[in-house]
Amino acid sequence: MALRSLIHKSVPHQAGAPVVEFSHVSVRYNGEPALDDVSFTIPRGERTAIVGPNGAGKSTLLKVIAGILPTSSGDVRVYGYGAGGHICIGYVPQRTQVDWSFPVTVADVVMMGRVARLGLFRYAGHKDRQLVRDSLGQVGMLHLADRQIGELSGGQQQRVFIARAMAQEAELLLMDEPLTGLDVPSQEAIFAILDDLRTRGMTVLVSTHDLHLASDRFDRMMLLRRQLLGFGNGAEVLTPANLNRAYGAQMTILPSVGGSLVFGDTCCEGHDEVEEHHHA
Ligand code: ADP
Repeated sequence: MALRSLIHKSVPHQAGAPVVEFSHVSVRYNGEPALDDVSFTIPRGERTAIVGPNGAGKSTLLKVIAGILPTSSGDVRVYGYGAGGHICIGYVPQRTQVDWSFPVTVADVVMMGRVARLGLFRYAGHKDRQLVRDSLGQVGMLHLADRQIGELSGGQQQRVFIARAMAQEAELLLMDEPLTGLDVPSQEAIFAILDDLRTRGMTVLVSTHDLHLASDRFDRMMLLRRQLLGFGNGAEVLTPANLNRAYGAQMTILPSVGGSLVFGDTCCEGHDEVEEHHHA
């Protein structure tokens, strides 16, 4: 095998295969289960929210799909092949997992997506630089191309990471809590970009604490607490029984006219959070 193919490994796609398929997947850390017998299928082009309390396994699930964490048992397929080595995946880790003091510019971060696509032995050319500029333009960040990444706001950083996935020509975008800590305009800016990506057929998986956004702004939601407790639209998933299984005593559900009010205290910042969900 040539050295280049060792470094720039890219797994092909099986025609007609779902984007992601989990069959009885379990993941354990030092014997402790983080995911337990999880099975689901994600079709192409859908936007899925992964919800569940802290420690439910949301990050673990995304890392397994990204191919950076092995499973303990079960089978994972990405476009019909095993996880790992899929250049078509753009993975955006949680903000807390990124070293923002690393001295790189916004354009450098996006170019890293290009380098992933090109492999280490080809220099970026005019076309690559143009693609970086186009991707930054599409997320409204071209004017900040020369800034250090650490100087940007949280929402702007998320947009730069989406631009990196675009430059990488990703077909599946995985984002771990991109909305946490963002104000409403910053969240809306991200959704506007995700809407644009949807028209191009990009499949998107986003983990979030916000049940309201998950229910209203995604095609489907996945409710996790080690096991998969629900998978479908908001009305199907956010039943009192499911919420009770997921959040237990952390959340009190009060019935109201036209739907149910759900009071939770599971917000990552430790503040009380009020979620309102109206059943159709
Ligand atoms: P979530 O993203 O829903 O908060 P995680 O996937 O981060 O959940 O964590 C699921 C469980 O696995 C938690 O109990 C967490 O403490 C544990 N866990 C996560 N990462 C590690 C790790 N690197 N080593 C040991 N335990 C871990």
